Amino acid sequence: MWTLDRIRSVYNRPLLDLVYEAHRVFRQHHDPRDIQRCTLLSIKTGGCPEDCAYCAQSARYETGIRATPLMDVADVVARARAAKERGATRFCMGAAWREVREGPQFEAVLEMVRQVAALGMEVCVTLGMLTEEQARRLKDAGLTAYNHNLDTSPEFYSRIITTRSYEDRLRTLRAVARAGIAICCGGIIGMGESVDDRLRLLEELSKLEVPPESIPINCLVPIPGTPLADAPPVDPLELVRLIATTRIMFPKSRVRLSAGRTNMSKELQVLCFLAGANSIFYGDKLLTAPNPDESEDARLLRELGVPLS
Ligand code: SF4
Repeated sequence: MWTLDRIRSVYNRPLLDLVYEAHRVFRQHHDPRDIQRCTLLSIKTGGCPEDCAYCAQSARYETGIRATPLMDVADVVARARAAKERGATRFCMGAAWREVREGPQFEAVLEMVRQVAALGMEVCVTLGMLTEEQARRLKDAGLTAYNHNLDTSPEFYSRIITTRSYEDRLRTLRAVARAGIAICCGGIIGMGESVDDRLRLLEELSKLEVPPESIPINCLVPIPGTPLADAPPVDPLELVRLIATTRIMFPKSRVRLSAGRTNMSKELQVLCFLAGANSIFYGDKLLTAPNPDESEDARLLRELGVPLS
């Protein structure tokens, strides 16, 4: 069992010992040349009623993001096909909803899942809260994974979001697991939380009935107009420590180096891969935040010896 004390003792090891151990664990369970490439598409942008303090898509903040309706199924499938041709293996679709509601929009999302799965790609969606029945329907449509982040520790959570509770999020994660869908669940660092808050997030993830299949670790990209617009950047070596600790705690999961890569040097990203990260978002946009362009990523992956097709 992972107690906070035990997690702290891993996190606080001398840095090189920690990275070495994480890399050893990583090689036991993964092929180091297998770095997953996920492309993320915002299928319904902005106008979200929630108040997540980091988010450009909340209707509560003046961020300059224009709310758009749900994309057409055919357009989404065309984007998935293009992503596949460029080397993405997983296609993730995000809708800025508080929760899934029954009706034509959910039916359209189910159709997107069916058609993207038929391309032979892994399919992931992030749609907010959902019920067990909705999760079952997504599973039947061919969904591989559902993304729903816990974001931070239960203690810090209410400083970031007040419109839904930690327990709401855990309930959605339980619904996803019960439907047999893989869980993609991680967090964001750089929101003013303490190191202990980050480690408490990992502790919460370790308590889930089914461990997350993938764990995105995001570095906050401060968005003008949001309450976190002026948050200072994360210490890069704290990021490396967190990734290494995540790898040691979740040997089989994909640890995804997610938002914030545009602000990271190539060397820092390589150190993160050494510490056990083995998944990235691939494409020039992360919902609404910037991401390195694909040719830069392709160069980096080539240097790492990762086959691109
Ligand atoms: S993170 Fe998701 S739920 Fe929160 S405001 Fe943004 S789109 Fe809405």
